[in-house]
Amino acid sequence: MCERVIVQSIYCHQLYSMLCEATFVSNIGFLDDFCKLKCYQKHRIADGPLNWVERYPIAAGERQSPIDITTDSVVPDPDLPDNPLKWDYPKTAKVVTNTGYGWRVDVDGSGSSLSGGPLEEKYEIVQFHCHWGHDESCGSEHTVDGEAFPAELHLVHRNLKYETMEEALNYADGLSVLGVFLTVGEENQELQKIVDILHEIKYKDESVKLESPIDPLKLLPDETAYWTYPGSLTTPPLSECVIWLVLREKIQVSIEQLEAFRQMCCNGKCDEQKTLPENFRPPQPKNHRCIRSSVA
Ligand SMILES: [Zn+2]
Repeated sequence: MCERVIVQSIYCHQLYSMLCEATFVSNIGFLDDFCKLKCYQKHRIADGPLNWVERYPIAAGERQSPIDITTDSVVPDPDLPDNPLKWDYPKTAKVVTNTGYGWRVDVDGSGSSLSGGPLEEKYEIVQFHCHWGHDESCGSEHTVDGEAFPAELHLVHRNLKYETMEEALNYADGLSVLGVFLTVGEENQELQKIVDILHEIKYKDESVKLESPIDPLKLLPDETAYWTYPGSLTTPPLSECVIWLVLREKIQVSIEQLEAFRQMCCNGKCDEQKTLPENFRPPQPKNHRCIRSSVA
């Protein structure tokens, strides 16, 4: 292995150990592969999500995410409203990082909890991040009756019965991800705190501490009716360990804020500049899965 590859792998290790919907480190080969896959503008060519299956066979698994939520096949589950979701989030988020495929806000979730609904245990918030598209016609990972939205926020939680993210990835109930669709409208004040510092994390692996605390609760819509189904991470290693909660009501984001996201770079500071116009995985086959709704 040449020196350059080793150095790249070390960077990837540092990045990945902080990161994403997963914190899973198996070996240098895996890390190296993952880093090659992260520039999403390659969506439709060799290294993009459509080709992940070549390196991650689970990409063709039975419970992959995202999916298209077909509302006529959704099953209302009366047990869900009887046991509402409960949030208790910390008021602070620590650090924003350019992961090479978007921004991620790490949260000190100690003492936080998400419970209720389909969740049989308590979950703790770990981080949140966003997926977006090159224009307003696409960007969300989940779609509803075939319709995509300009962006989708993911709040990632770990089941507290598992001690680490690595461990949680091995279990069907390891993580719960709360998805929130974004539509174009008014400027989102909480997201603006991130937009304001994106110029400091333009390049991959750059991080900046948040001076102005972000309250994850302020990123949720007023109405919290949701769909739920068993799924996976939407980035490698695509582990099938996620109980998805996709909120029906959307929040707003301005065109200028989306444009600021797209201007982030997926390359390191010294490499050829490549912006991140989009970073979403397309919907995967629903297969035998049932999508339940918290309302009729
Ligand atoms: Zn995500």
